[in-house]
Amino acid sequence: MSKPVVAIVGRPNVGKSTLFNYIAGKRISITEDTPGITRDRIYAEAEWRGRKFTLIDTGGIEPHTDDYIKKMMLRQAELAMETADVIIFLLDIKTGLTAADSDVAAMLRKSKKPVVVAVNKVDNIGELPPEAYEFYNLGMGDFHPISSIHGLGIGDLLDAVFEHFPEEEDGDQEEDVIKIAVIGKPNVGKSSLINCILGEERVIVSDIPGTTRDAIDTLVERNGKLYNFIDTAGIRKKSRIEEDIERYSVIRSFMAVDRADVCLIMIDANDGVTEQDTKIAGYAHEQGKASIITVNKWDMIEKETGTLEKMRKEILQELDFMNYAPVVFISAKTGQRVERLFELVDYVYDQASFRVQTGMLNDVLNEAMAMVQPPSDKGKRLKIYYMTQTGIKPPRFVLFVNDKELMHFSYERYIINTLRSNFGFEGTPIQLMLKEKND
Ligand code: GDP
Ligand code: GDP
Repeated sequence: MSKPVVAIVGRPNVGKSTLFNYIAGKRISITEDTPGITRDRIYAEAEWRGRKFTLIDTGGIEPHTDDYIKKMMLRQAELAMETADVIIFLLDIKTGLTAADSDVAAMLRKSKKPVVVAVNKVDNIGELPPEAYEFYNLGMGDFHPISSIHGLGIGDLLDAVFEHFPEEEDGDQEEDVIKIAVIGKPNVGKSSLINCILGEERVIVSDIPGTTRDAIDTLVERNGKLYNFIDTAGIRKKSRIEEDIERYSVIRSFMAVDRADVCLIMIDANDGVTEQDTKIAGYAHEQGKASIITVNKWDMIEKETGTLEKMRKEILQELDFMNYAPVVFISAKTGQRVERLFELVDYVYDQASFRVQTGMLNDVLNEAMAMVQPPSDKGKRLKIYYMTQTGIKPPRFVLFVNDKELMHFSYERYIINTLRSNFGFEGTPIQLMLKEKND
């Protein structure tokens, strides 16, 4: 089920990232071996009253001129209106109300999205300072005084946000549709691929602010099966600023990943793996999504014997945390191997949905432990009593052990490799969890 999305919008320096970090807090997952993910915190999972949601900081680049600030803010507001279920509009009591604030307010008012207004840097508990009353002039009604630095008023703010969350749907009604995120940097060929799949030019969804981007999903039927392609292309056409484009395309890619069963991580054959590719792939990996590394524009590459294998090797070296993913070389322009892509999607989806019987699993585990002894520390050896699969998409396993501390990263990797060589699990991450007997 997709989580509600909450976007924070506001002028530079009002405290967006401070608020973001406060709400996301320790929930921002840190995976040391996945590069690029935590480098900039603009997208995180958070939780309030037991409900998980996605938090987006729409700010980022520091604008230099007032004119630029205004443009940036309108752009942010647009992004928020497109993608969020609830918008937090953040203001700053220290600077008071500015013209840019009023412009954004006017824009947000027109959207149908719920907006919760917060006035930041109200650092003292108690009476609302008199200067706060000016914010009523925005015409957005009541607001929440908060202090992001001191964590004041944020519970009330989140309560108000929570009120606007869409009803939780139960069950997965779209069981029979495989959801595919087509992700990658701008111009890698995402739209071209979807157009190629459709066999015709796709009608571009209108660019009017407030148009929901969910409409960009493309449902495709092939051999009686349904596939929902989640495209992330649309956004780029609106911005001329390089970092801006990159940043938003990363956010959109992350959102697509969250909703997907299978990610097509598109790499430009001309460029190889870039930092942004690593970031996007890292996120898909972290979220436990099945992935296919899709190298596009293969038609543009001059080939000799071994070019493909050489490039496959290089790509898997760059994305070494994702060495389970199949790599396919396609051309969205000529249609080369696009059929093959569908076969791979079916394949990795099945792999990610595969369940191993506990008996068989433990036979394999025992054999693996006989081949390579579990690690020991200060005379105490790790004992793995048994393991069981607790979930699919991605496959998740729980290992019952005598002492978690004795587990070693390299032994975990050994077990994962053993699972792969016995059961496949191609294209999907595998997650292991350790439990002690009395946990
Ligand atoms: P952003 O540009 O909107 O992301 O703003 P930042 O989160 O980077 O904050 C801008 C500045 O305001 C930083 O110096 C913060 O320390 C400061 N700041 C943020 N929240 C508060 C607050 O609640 N009270 C006070 N006094 N300062 C704050
Ligand atoms: P997006 O931003 O990822 O959606 O990228 P587009 O689909 O808009 O493609 C960007 C540019 O790359 C366009 O000019 C496409 O015609 C071109 N392009 C996309 N795929 C291919 C391909 O497989 N081969 C070649 N030669 N060009 C491609």
